[in-house]
Amino acid sequence: MTVLDGDNREYNRSMLEQGRRLEELVHLDDIRRLKEELLEEVEQLRRSVREKESRDGAKIESLAQQVAVLNHELEQARTESERDALTGVYNRRCFDRYFTELIDANAAADNDVALLMIDIDDFKRLNDTFGHLAGDSVLAALARKCRQLIRSEDFMARYGGEEFVIVLPGSSLRNAEKKGRQICEAVASTRYLLEGSNCRDPLSLSVSIGASAFARGDTAAAMVSRADKAMYLAKAAGKNCVRSEKEGE
Ligand code: GH3
Ligand code: MG
Ligand code: MG
Repeated sequence: MTVLDGDNREYNRSMLEQGRRLEELVHLDDIRRLKEELLEEVEQLRRSVREKESRDGAKIESLAQQVAVLNHELEQARTESERDALTGVYNRRCFDRYFTELIDANAAADNDVALLMIDIDDFKRLNDTFGHLAGDSVLAALARKCRQLIRSEDFMARYGGEEFVIVLPGSSLRNAEKKGRQICEAVASTRYLLEGSNCRDPLSLSVSIGASAFARGDTAAAMVSRADKAMYLAKAAGKNCVRSEKEGE
């Protein structure tokens, strides 16, 4: 705009000057010459307006591109901040926020919501025998297997080292136990190739699972605690199985 203002000022000044000269004119030739000069100046002004428009257009285009790149980077950063880098499922922080909000909102609604706490059996031995890299690849493979078995509305997160949680919105305790058994069977019937280890033989794996379900007046922390206790009941029962909070009563 500053450039344009400058152009306009220059144009006005020149018009005044030409007007003054016009008053002094007596010959037709002088009038023709003055007219040509005026036309040239108008043309110059038009050119500078066009150039400015084209510069502004390019600037706007470049700014729009920068905004698109920043939006993309922001979206990526948001996704990364919610995910566990090793397994790709949601991380603990994201689970805490999501689950607390879900359960708090459910205080008035009283919908079915169930929670599974999944812990890999004898994982320390696997690490000690085959190394941490092999352990890492098993964690990632287990997360992939579980994700294949849950619905899009279910929410899976890595709760701790070798512990995962799955939130099942709309699910009763019975359905959660059933889903838990499906996961136990699928995990145990899969053979896992160990990456980053000398071991070429595929390995067997099992998980123990505890289930809890929303009750009136519940909190997220209380549901996690009950699912955790139930998971320890599954460990005590010999591992590779599911136990619900009801069995602990
Ligand atoms: P249990 O059947 O009773 O659950 O026994 P466990 O050996 O699975 O349980 P424990 O709590 O004794 O060991 C858990 C192990 O998980 C110990 C720790 O080294 C391992 N671990 C935790 N996080 C990671 C990780 O990110 N990568 C690998 N490779 N190992 C991990
Ligand atoms: Mg554990
Ligand atoms: Mg374990």
